[in-house]
Amino acid sequence: MELDVSTALSHPGQVFGFSGTQAIADQEIYGTVVRIDDCAVEGTYLADDQGNIRVEGRLRTTAHAPCANCLKDASAQVENEFQEDFIRNGDPEDDEIFAYEGHLVSMSKLVMSYAVMALPIRFLCREDCPGLSYKDPDAAPVETGKQYPFAGLRQLLDQMEEV
Ligand SMILES: [Zn+2]
Repeated sequence: MELDVSTALSHPGQVFGFSGTQAIADQEIYGTVVRIDDCAVEGTYLADDQGNIRVEGRLRTTAHAPCANCLKDASAQVENEFQEDFIRNGDPEDDEIFAYEGHLVSMSKLVMSYAVMALPIRFLCREDCPGLSYKDPDAAPVETGKQYPFAGLRQLLDQMEEV
């Protein structure tokens, strides 16, 4: 997904809208492959006097990974909001910034970063998956190597929120 910002560049400060979809490659996170559907992306952008492009908006998609408890297929809704500046002629190898040159802003790195950021700590095939007895507060989570760090802590926090 690319934004053609030529009109924005000749009208600094003017806000333009956009929407589209962005494909995202499979991600390997803590040894687990997470597959992410095409992201629906919408938002606005504007150019400043230096030709940098401020992009803000939100994304929505579904991510798929093995259930943290039983390894069956599980999925989760993923949503996130973003606001970033694309630096005109910035270093494209610099991971700290977003950069572009010419009049096309590529959204792929931004959408991927914000989608991955919003992934759940662990996937569950269903709320009460019995794969492991997380519901027993005295049971320590079993370290199978397939779990995410802090899964037990997250479960504890979830339980506290439910009270
Ligand atoms: Zn499960």
